[in-house]
Amino acid sequence: MRARGGIDLHAHSTASDGTLPPAGVVAEAVAAGLGVVALTDHDSTAGWDEAFAAARGTGITVVPGIELSTQLDYASIHVLGYLPDPADAALASALAGLRDERLHRAERMVERIAADYDLTWADVLAQTAPGATIGRPHIADALVAKGIVPDRSAAFASILHWRGGYYQPHRAPEPLAGVALIAGAGGVPVIAHPGSRAPQSVLSEPRIRALVDAGLAGIELRHRDNLEGARERWTDVARRFDLIVTGSSDFHGAGKPNRLGENTTDPADYARIVELGSGSVPYTG
Ligand code: AMP
Ligand code: FE
Ligand code: FE
Ligand code: ZN
Repeated sequence: MRARGGIDLHAHSTASDGTLPPAGVVAEAVAAGLGVVALTDHDSTAGWDEAFAAARGTGITVVPGIELSTQLDYASIHVLGYLPDPADAALASALAGLRDERLHRAERMVERIAADYDLTWADVLAQTAPGATIGRPHIADALVAKGIVPDRSAAFASILHWRGGYYQPHRAPEPLAGVALIAGAGGVPVIAHPGSRAPQSVLSEPRIRALVDAGLAGIELRHRDNLEGARERWTDVARRFDLIVTGSSDFHGAGKPNRLGENTTDPADYARIVELGSGSVPYTG
């Protein structure tokens, strides 16, 4: 599936919870032979400029994006937003608010973990790039550095699991508000991994209809977290609502097994995204 010139619309850098800096993500995308890569850090546009600069002279296209945290019935729903205006006041303030929520939530989790394990907040900060959107992966990296767990996945399967006894939620807007926020900033809203556990369980038909009415443009149909059997349902949803369908890796560098280009998006679907997005433009180096 690593077609030369492939289009991968979901990747993370150290601006959130990836392990490579934005320039490293772009370099790896070039090495993987991709034609287009989107940088979609959680709740942040901070990596865009470095990614554009790294693309210069390579011929690759970098699509500026975000992965917005939203929440519905205690379930976490991620909404990808392509080509939004990073200076849009409503979006910028929502992203800043989310990063702040996540910071305090991570502090609460570390406080609880510290009661049972040799872990401090300074250990977590040592694993976090300045200004990055902080998340459980940074706590995981600190647990690895302390020798408490072997890798991120082991941390997520135990101490950081939502039923692991230390989990803390953070406030986030509802998906409907998230979709409206992205669309209002000229961006193209796409539900990330809709067939993964949380969205699959809470996104009922009427809720999907409401999201489409609010400007939802697409769904990430091909993603390794979409559950077995969910693909049929979402293929049908996409057809009925005429949604763009994407395929992406959700690359996090060494932090997850996901490899760039493991799923890709058809050129016709990518063209619809570019046509709809009005807040920023892809950068071709
Ligand atoms: P948070 O948003 O802080 O609750 O953490 C969830 C993030 O952790 C997701 O965006 C994933 O990128 C990452 N994540 C989830 N599960 C794993 C895992 N098993 N290994 C590594 N990273 C993970
Ligand atoms: Fe992530
Ligand atoms: Fe996600
Ligand atoms: Zn992601």
